Amino acid sequence: MAEDILKEVLKDVPESAEISDSRFEGANIVLYTKNKDFFLHNNGTLKEIVDKIKKRVELRPDPSLLVDAEKAEEIIRKEIPKEAGETSISFDLQRSIVVIEAEKPGIAIGKGGEVLKGIKEKTFWVPVVKRKPAIKSIIIEKIRKVLFENNDYRKKFLNKVGHRIYDGWIREKKNEWVRISFLGAARQVGRSCFLLQTPESRILLDCGVDVSNEKEPFPYLDAPEFDINQLDAIILSHPHTDHSALIPYLYKMGYKGPVYCTEPTRDIAALLCLDYIGIANKENKKSIYSSTDIKEMVKHTITLNYEEVTDITPDVRLTFYNAGHVLGSSLVHLHIGNGLHNFLYCGDLNYETSNLLASANTHFPRLETVMIESTYGGRDDNPPSRQESEDELIKIVEETIARKGKVLIPVLGVGRAQEVMVIIEKLIRSGKLKKIPVYVQGLVWDITAIHTAYPDYFNNIVKKMIFHKDQNPFLSEIFTHIAGGKEMAQVLESGPCVILATSGMLNAGASVEYFKHLAPDKNNSIVLVSYQGPSSLGRRVQNGEKEITLEGEDKPIHVNMNVYTLKGFSGHSTRKQLLSFIHRLNPKPKKVILVHGESTKCLDLASTIHKQERIETAAPKNLEVIRIK
Ligand SMILES: [Zn+2]
Ligand SMILES: [Zn+2]
Repeated sequence: MAEDILKEVLKDVPESAEISDSRFEGANIVLYTKNKDFFLHNNGTLKEIVDKIKKRVELRPDPSLLVDAEKAEEIIRKEIPKEAGETSISFDLQRSIVVIEAEKPGIAIGKGGEVLKGIKEKTFWVPVVKRKPAIKSIIIEKIRKVLFENNDYRKKFLNKVGHRIYDGWIREKKNEWVRISFLGAARQVGRSCFLLQTPESRILLDCGVDVSNEKEPFPYLDAPEFDINQLDAIILSHPHTDHSALIPYLYKMGYKGPVYCTEPTRDIAALLCLDYIGIANKENKKSIYSSTDIKEMVKHTITLNYEEVTDITPDVRLTFYNAGHVLGSSLVHLHIGNGLHNFLYCGDLNYETSNLLASANTHFPRLETVMIESTYGGRDDNPPSRQESEDELIKIVEETIARKGKVLIPVLGVGRAQEVMVIIEKLIRSGKLKKIPVYVQGLVWDITAIHTAYPDYFNNIVKKMIFHKDQNPFLSEIFTHIAGGKEMAQVLESGPCVILATSGMLNAGASVEYFKHLAPDKNNSIVLVSYQGPSSLGRRVQNGEKEITLEGEDKPIHVNMNVYTLKGFSGHSTRKQLLSFIHRLNPKPKKVILVHGESTKCLDLASTIHKQERIETAAPKNLEVIRIK
C-alpha cells in the first residue's frame, strides 16, 4: 500500500525534522519539512532512506519557511550571474518550487550547483532551472503557462498517480502473463497504437492518426479489450502525427491518467496536434477534438529524461532511450513484473548518426521481446547514404543559385527540416556554399524554436557547437522566419534562395503555395526529401507530370522547374540498418515483432531476421493479439 511506503520512509526520519506533509509525485516521494536546518543539511539521512527503499525521495520546505515571493525574486536576481542572460522567475507555492528560466542554464546553476545552493540557503525555495529557448517559442511559453496555472491540480494528479503505482494490485493476482493487442500500424504505416496488458496493468503505446487514409484514419479503439476507464497510462514514443494525434481525443472521452514522454516530445506533439485540428478546420471538416483537449493532454503529461527509470504501475517500470529518429524520440523499455519479462517498443528509429541526432541505443539491462518498425524493411529498401544525399543537395543548391533560381524543399515540420538547416549552415560557414538566404516558413520555424530549448538531445557535434563554441546553427543570420502571406510574397519576388515549408507531400500548407508560384520557371528546383503518399501532389510531381490542375482551380500549373528526389535524409533506418540494429542488440532478444510497414515489408523483414538471427519473429495484423509471456 502507498500509505505503508510513506510510513516506512517517515520511520527513518528523525522527529526533529518536523515533517508536515508527505505525498507522491508520480513514482517519487516528496517530504515537506518545517525544520530549516534539516531542509538545508539533511543529506545523510535522505540518502540512507533512498538506498533502503530504492525510490526517489525529495525534500522540500514547508510553505511556512519560504521567504515571500517578491523578496525571494530580488535575492535570486542578485545571486544569478549576469552572464546567464535573460531570466524569468515563477513561483510554485503549492510545491515550494521556484522555476528559473535562463538563456544559459549552466551559469544559472553554477559550478557544482553553487548558485542554486546560495538561493536555497537565502530563500528556502527549491530552485529548478530551465532553458529559455534561444528562439522565442510561443508553444513552450503556452505549455509552461498551462502547467503553472494548474499547479494545484497537478499536485493532486501526481499524488493520485503515485497511489495507483503503490497501492498494490487492484485486480486479483492470478498467473502472470503479458500480451499485446495491435490496434493500428500492424502491416501498415500510420495510426500506431498498441495495448499492453498484464493481469494488473493496461498501458497504451502511442495513439496516432493515419492522415493519408480518409476511410480508416483511426486505430481500432472499439476492440473489446480496450476500455478507456481501465487504462492506467499512455506512453508516447515521439510526436509524429501517426503516433500522437489521437491522444487528446482520449482525454475528451474521459481518460484522466498520465501520458509519459520526453519534454521535447510533449512540446512538439502539442504543436502538431494543434496543427492537425487546424488543417481539419481549414478544410471545413469537423475536427474530432479541440484545443481544450490538447490542454488536458499537456496537464496530464509526466516527462522523463532518457535512461531515467520510473515505475508507472505496480508491475511495470518504464525507461526511455534515444531512438535517433527526431528530437526527443524514444525507444520504450518496459520491465514487467519482478523480472518476469523485458519488452522494448522501438517506435520509429534511426540506427545511424544524423547531422542532428545520435544513433539509436542498442544496450539494455535486460531484453526478451522487441517490437520494431519496418518502414523500409523491404528487400529493395536500401536508399543512398546520408553523405551521398548531402553531396547531391549541395550540387542542386549551387546549380540552382547559379541560374538565379529558387530551391523549394517541402518538409514535415520536425526532423529533416532541422537537419537540412544544419547542413546548409555548415556548408555556408565552411565556405563550401555561397552565402544565400534560407526562408523558414511558419510551422517549421516554430518547431525549430522548440529544438533550441532542448540542446541536450542533439548529437555530440551539435551539442559541442552550442555549448562550447557558442555557435548555435539555428541562430545563424542566414535563416529568416516567414510568418504570413505578405512575407511570402516578398520571398517570391526576391532573388536566389532556399525555402523550407510544410507539408512534405505538398498535400496542404505553405509548400503548395510556393510550388504554384515557382513551378513554371525552369530555373527553379524542388527537392523532395520526404515519403510521398500515392495520391499526393508530391507523388505526381515526382512522377514527372508536367501539367497539373489542382482541385477547385481551372487553370493548370505548368511544371517546368527541376524535380529532384533525395532519399538519404530519412529519419527511419534502412533495411540494412534495421538488420544491424537487431544484430547489435545487447542482450540478444528472444522474439522480434515487426510493425509500422506495408505488409510485404513486415513479412520480408520478419523472415530475414528469423533466418539471420535464428530468433522467433512475428508480423501480426491489426486486431491480432500476441502473448509475449
Ligand atoms: Zn516518426
Ligand atoms: Zn511513424
